[in-house]
Amino acid sequence: MGVLGRSGIFVACVALFMTLLPQNPHRDDLLTNISSGKSRVLDLSYAINDKLVPWPGDTRWFESQVNSTVEKNGYFSRSFWMLEHYGTHLDAPIHFPPGKITVDKIPAKQFFGPAVVLDVRADAARDADFLLSRGRVEDWEKRHGQVPKGAIVLLRTGWAARWPDAQRYRNQDGQGRMHFPGFSAEAVKVLIERKVSGLGCDTLSADYGASTDFAVHHLALGAGLYQLENLADLSEVPEVGAFLIVAPIKLEGGSGGAVRVFALVEQESGK
Ligand SMILES: [Zn+2]
Repeated sequence: MGVLGRSGIFVACVALFMTLLPQNPHRDDLLTNISSGKSRVLDLSYAINDKLVPWPGDTRWFESQVNSTVEKNGYFSRSFWMLEHYGTHLDAPIHFPPGKITVDKIPAKQFFGPAVVLDVRADAARDADFLLSRGRVEDWEKRHGQVPKGAIVLLRTGWAARWPDAQRYRNQDGQGRMHFPGFSAEAVKVLIERKVSGLGCDTLSADYGASTDFAVHHLALGAGLYQLENLADLSEVPEVGAFLIVAPIKLEGGSGGAVRVFALVEQESGK
């Protein structure tokens, strides 16, 4: 401390401020501005029912039953059964080796972070097998600065427009192989170097549909990141400047589970 001196501290503070500035000048206000309406809260999760798109081959995915009714019991309650990986859900690191952490053990801190949105809608419309390259992450960084540590990186493919039409969303060919876009392993390696908290996508899987080796799952989950899959429409989340709150079910020993994901965005922020 002594060596730095007062002017040194001032310069350091200004430098710190300048590095934060291009990212989002108002991020600190996003939470406090919710009640006034200056911040909007976007819900990026689908409501859960039995009509969502399960992974091909799953034969049961969601069932619910009424256990008590107001008429009979004086109160209303239900029970339900569902897959851990169904609807908008989180993949915990243990879902794929060498990942180890179950959904209940992911540090809570990892559930709050700035959103980095990588927009590949035009590419995905041209090529359903589109893979987000390392270069596209670097392009984002040229525009907005380095992907911040603790960021939650969302791949916006536009696939949410197909939800919940299973045929169009899975987009399977004659051999049953699915075709939808995803992260490339090379891009994920850069994001791991940046120490991001998690990945997310508006498709069925962080790996592209045609993947057979699930390279992204092994890499990202192995590095302790989580994955958010089947996120709802991301069109209102800006490329930079939104803040995400990720709230998965705290299921002991779980490989993942249903998740509620909220994006806080400035009222006037662009798309
Ligand atoms: Zn999953």
